[in-house]
Amino acid sequence: MKYRDKVKTAKRIVIKVGTSTLTYENGNLNLKRIEKIAQTISDLVNNDKEVILVTSGAVGVGKNKLNYSEKPKTPQEKQACASVGQVILMNIYSKLFGEYGYSVGQILLTKDVLENEKRKLNVINTFETLLKNKIIPIVNENDSVSIEEIENISRFGDNDNLASVVSVIVGADLLVILSDIDGFYDKNPKINFDAKLISEVLEITKELESFAGGSSTDLGTGGMQTKIQAGKIATNNGCDMILANGENPSIILDILDGKNIGTLFVSK
Ligand code: ADP
Repeated sequence: MKYRDKVKTAKRIVIKVGTSTLTYENGNLNLKRIEKIAQTISDLVNNDKEVILVTSGAVGVGKNKLNYSEKPKTPQEKQACASVGQVILMNIYSKLFGEYGYSVGQILLTKDVLENEKRKLNVINTFETLLKNKIIPIVNENDSVSIEEIENISRFGDNDNLASVVSVIVGADLLVILSDIDGFYDKNPKINFDAKLISEVLEITKELESFAGGSSTDLGTGGMQTKIQAGKIATNNGCDMILANGENPSIILDILDGKNIGTLFVSK
């Protein structure tokens, strides 16, 4: 259990919450869960942890607001949904964190920002200043400007990747990815009833990568493939990663108590 003991000492933590955790299947926000996320993170900050939240959900929420019956197809529609949904999402986070006495700061990123040393440093300085002032940084991909077609802009494409890159640039000790599944299994458990949960991963081998399937929901994005990629980026850069079920977000407190929950990808 020594690896789980190390998790207990994590000071700087990035928490990524997926669409499947934040929204119901119809795309509407699961407010009870978002409230629990705000409460749990506030409690961590009360306990002197530094926490950054990477949140998905904006496109799904915007889609409902704009009365689109299905997933937006054109980049313009998707960008409009992101633009509308991001405001709704931040409004709710601001209100809920406010109930526990915390303010939030929004950081919208595209990949090209972090590929440029100067702009990357600016972003790091913003994170540091927010954290020093006990403000919760809330991060998302800047989806209303980030389609591939726009010149000079490159996308992360999924928030698992974004969260791992953010973890690396801020020197986080731990990245927690909350999804709709208990952890990483030796095959996709949604279609294989005999799938077994892997509790610790010391090395992401080719065999392990082959266990990762795609998303099983319409609103989910990367499935396990993007989570394994995120695991590689995090663990190769000294950051542990835990994949766990976001059904009850206070699970994060148990994880930080060193309990054997989810899958721990141990940093190198
Ligand atoms: P999120 O929106 O939280 O990012 P995704 O739907 O993108 O969630 O990814 C989680 C899904 O990945 C699970 O519900 C499951 O169906 C699928 N999956 C594929 N392969 C695996 C695996 N080896 N272990 C666990 N889940 C898997």
